[in-house]
Amino acid sequence: MSHWQNLTNVPEDSENNFKNKMENPEQKKSPEYKPSPDNHVPNPEMVEFFETEVYPVLSQLFEHRYPIAEVQQRYNQLATQITNRFHRPELPVKLSDVESKDNAGNNLLPMGCDFKDGQPSISLFVPTLKKIFDMEKAMNPEKHKERYEDSIVVGYLHELDHLAGGFIGTIDENLQTTIDHECLTWAETCEHTIKFFVETGREVNQSDLSFYNTWKKCGRNPYSKRWRDFMSNMYGGLKRNKGK
Ligand SMILES: [Zn+2]
Repeated sequence: MSHWQNLTNVPEDSENNFKNKMENPEQKKSPEYKPSPDNHVPNPEMVEFFETEVYPVLSQLFEHRYPIAEVQQRYNQLATQITNRFHRPELPVKLSDVESKDNAGNNLLPMGCDFKDGQPSISLFVPTLKKIFDMEKAMNPEKHKERYEDSIVVGYLHELDHLAGGFIGTIDENLQTTIDHECLTWAETCEHTIKFFVETGREVNQSDLSFYNTWKKCGRNPYSKRWRDFMSNMYGGLKRNKGK
């Protein structure tokens, strides 16, 4: 099963549209996210997990009814930038049954983005998303739901930051380029997304919080040595897996 996010539906005046959607809940049905036959997750347990724990969170963004207005506006802005950059009306969101992590086995990679044959896309690694869900639940039974939902939104907007900025990996990309891309992309994600979760007092998971706290300590400078060292440490074990 693959899902397609229609980027052409982003309204000119997204702020007013956001308010309209909030006032007219009957408008919330989304035309933007539809199944495609070319990709599927065969494991029914994973499909069910995606449908119950992941899709309801992301659909709030796609349907312009996300409860934090700044985050919704950021999503709209990125969707417009991606449309302008790639001239494609849709952004395929592919569900993968791969459990994705770096070669060192330290970092779980729940999402990724790609650019192939002129078409950008996002991949969601559903078994990894589920593993993170289970870990959050074990660590923090009371607040895990909010924390998990916020981490999905941060992760998704981080992938949109990659696409909007043109910081897209290729198979033969070297590690230094990956780190350059992550320095610039996480700067955007910290400054324009994580910041609003922190400021509104939402639960932010440890990983996202460590990115944000380091970003502040670096003086919000994406070219600082400390920021690059942090990214090198985070992504140092990452090597590209061909054919994944
Ligand atoms: Zn990234």
